[in-house]
Amino acid sequence: MSVRVRFAPSPTGALHIGGVRTALYNYLFAKQQGGTFILRIEDTDQTRYVPGAEEYIIETLKWVGLLPDEGVGFGGDKGPYRQSDRKEIYERYAHELVQRGHAYYAFDTPEELDVRRQGEENFTYNQLTRSGLSNSLTLSAEEVKSRLDAGAPFVIRLKVDPGREIHIHDLIRGDVVFQSSELDDKVLLKADGMPTYHLANIVDDHLMEITHVIRGEEWLPSTAHHVLLYEGFGWTDTMPRFSHLPLILKPIGNGKLSKRDGAKFGMPVFPLEWKGATPEDSFDGFRNTGFLPEAVINFLALLGWHPGGDQEIFTLDELIQTFSVDQISKSGARFDYEKAKWFNQKYIQAADNAVLASYIRPLANSKGYAATDAYLEQVAALMKERVTFLPDFVETGYYLFEPVREYDKETFQKKWTPSIAEVFNELSGMVATFEPFNGLALEEAIKHFIHEKGLKPGDMLPLLRIALAGTMKGPAVFDMAVALGREETLRRLQALTTLA
Ligand code: GLU
Repeated sequence: MSVRVRFAPSPTGALHIGGVRTALYNYLFAKQQGGTFILRIEDTDQTRYVPGAEEYIIETLKWVGLLPDEGVGFGGDKGPYRQSDRKEIYERYAHELVQRGHAYYAFDTPEELDVRRQGEENFTYNQLTRSGLSNSLTLSAEEVKSRLDAGAPFVIRLKVDPGREIHIHDLIRGDVVFQSSELDDKVLLKADGMPTYHLANIVDDHLMEITHVIRGEEWLPSTAHHVLLYEGFGWTDTMPRFSHLPLILKPIGNGKLSKRDGAKFGMPVFPLEWKGATPEDSFDGFRNTGFLPEAVINFLALLGWHPGGDQEIFTLDELIQTFSVDQISKSGARFDYEKAKWFNQKYIQAADNAVLASYIRPLANSKGYAATDAYLEQVAALMKERVTFLPDFVETGYYLFEPVREYDKETFQKKWTPSIAEVFNELSGMVATFEPFNGLALEEAIKHFIHEKGLKPGDMLPLLRIALAGTMKGPAVFDMAVALGREETLRRLQALTTLA
């Protein structure tokens, strides 16, 4: 049977970066097995629905290049793939489960249950308490029928039998055992006719012929209920295999990475920027921080998955080849933002200048910098070894687009003497007419000139650098001069002389 996996986020706000990792692992597994990667939107909880969240999920998958083979916005013949479009299906299956004796109608009103909750600490609706409550297990068949016929509100609950051990063979965690006595009778269908996550998830995994469920660790306890649902429906033969991914932990200290950690540690914890209703609910993303999507993928792949060996840089194809669920760790993975930055540097350094130019273009435009594509490619080549984030090309490298705003005065003062000033002017004269105006020729000529004057490169070149970039940290000085062009280079050499 061919592998079918799904990424099943709920559109309750910006998709957390951990969700992107879940999508990635599903994708890698599917592609490696020649299988199918499905996007299902789990939006049955209307109270938590956030407009724009579904679009955000889809845009994220497109940005990182994890395109579903089937799903909301991607077609496929097992749809609809948005749960709110499948309401009737769940209703039908919920009633069927009652017929099969594994679920029951419960008529208790929310007010009645509240009274119980107030009276009993930790009250849950379960195999012990249900006998004292108002449901189709305690009421007569006639009473149940007449209530249903009269349109009385009801929910459908899973009937958890006592005294059972439920075994889950998790591909990451091994055998996990739950005692049925510890499980509540979960609501499957709510009074408004909408399914809960548990029912919708199982019905869909079955109907969409999902073979493997790969999801966050927080869903492991629910899996016990899910196994009972598969049993109740008689679907155990095709029950998917489960893999529960380790938590993503804060950069320092303990605990799960939370959306508030972004602001706290000054780093993105979402893939894309998100504008919520309030500033506290608005977040930066990896994209607008200036990460390349390939770097984010590489970083996330290694957040919990440990291939043997020293290789750290993996293309998506290499990840597909190498990925294995066996090598996913059980323990939490620390969200090491410094490592994410390191990956981004590596990917920027390795990127094609034309590709980088296409990323720099909108950044330059937003600053009002006019530049040709060819010039942006030169900027990419000059700066790629010196940046961490894409906006650094126009921020750190602003001097490639506008005059120097700030000079390294300390170095300038150390190097600038009356005799050096004289040589510097002579050098400007030479640069004004020197042909050919290219990096290598210029370098040779200027070095030769410095030597002839009985000086050392260290006497002059720092001044040239400061003239062109304001800083000693700029790119190679001769290449920079060529990129800026003769006229602008001369203007900057001139400007430096007025600093003294
Ligand atoms: N809708 C659930 C979520 O938001 C999906 C869990 C699962 O994959 O079963 O994470």
